Amino acid sequence: PFAGRVAVVTGSTSGIGLAIARALMRAGADVVINGLGAPAEIEHVRASLETERHQSRVVYNGANLMKGDEAAGLIEETLIGFGRIDILVNNAGIQHVSPIETFPPEKYEAIIALNLSAAWYTTRAAFASMKQTGFGRIINVASAHGLVASPFKSAYVAAKHGIVGLTKTVALEGAEHNVTCNAICPGYVWTPLVENQIADTAKARGITREEVIRDVLLAAQPNKLFAEADELGALTVFLCGPGGRSITGTALPVDGGWTAH
Ligand code: NAD
Repeated sequence: PFAGRVAVVTGSTSGIGLAIARALMRAGADVVINGLGAPAEIEHVRASLETERHQSRVVYNGANLMKGDEAAGLIEETLIGFGRIDILVNNAGIQHVSPIETFPPEKYEAIIALNLSAAWYTTRAAFASMKQTGFGRIINVASAHGLVASPFKSAYVAAKHGIVGLTKTVALEGAEHNVTCNAICPGYVWTPLVENQIADTAKARGITREEVIRDVLLAAQPNKLFAEADELGALTVFLCGPGGRSITGTALPVDGGWTAH
């Protein structure tokens, strides 16, 4: 369904972003992937995506999205290279877990820059082109923490609530132009981001690694399962396809019931 469409997925060298990039590519889109990492590993990811489906082009852009001008540059370079942008997935994100009184200010600034401001800069840069072509699908990967809070995640929860607000505003500005904007709100998905926060969470709460998985992570999700990154890929494809035309301004939980509590 997406042949001829161009998608940009931020933070797609790993985890959820990679699964979303793969799903969009399998549905026929050309995809710009982005993220940090060792060049050889990134090229391996890029080439393995492209060999899966030869009709799709997969290119890598190494923009550091902590910087607003590089976030805008990611979109500008896509428009130069492909002449269009149809789908924008703002997915890149980081986490840091700490009580607020000892939360490092530089971690707070980095989380706000990447998890919130980068999406503002990419959306700002993509919007005119989407309006002009009369088609745009913007998906912001927020979190269950865009809807509810947990202790020790002050920066992350602030950024994720912020991106839900950005989503609603962009949806209203795009509504008459067939430009939709939605947030998807995963609970816990087993990716490097979650793996890396287990030690900090154990420290902040004074419990073991096993207790973090059982009593913090999975305790939040009534279905007692980690979501799979591919589930977010499937939802993104749906929202960008014909069935998603009237869905805009929403924040859709993919959390095994967490936010129904
Ligand atoms: P991940 O660590 O596997 O992937 C993060 C991606 O962002 C990587 O590709 C990384 O290279 C990229 N990235 C990091 N810093 C960057 C920068 N400065 N510029 C450009 N790219 C950068 O994490 P993930 O779990 O797949 O998370 C993806 C998104 O999903 C994040 O926004 C995260 O908050 C959100 N999320 C994750 C979970 C979960 O349980 N894993 C739950 C809810 C929401």
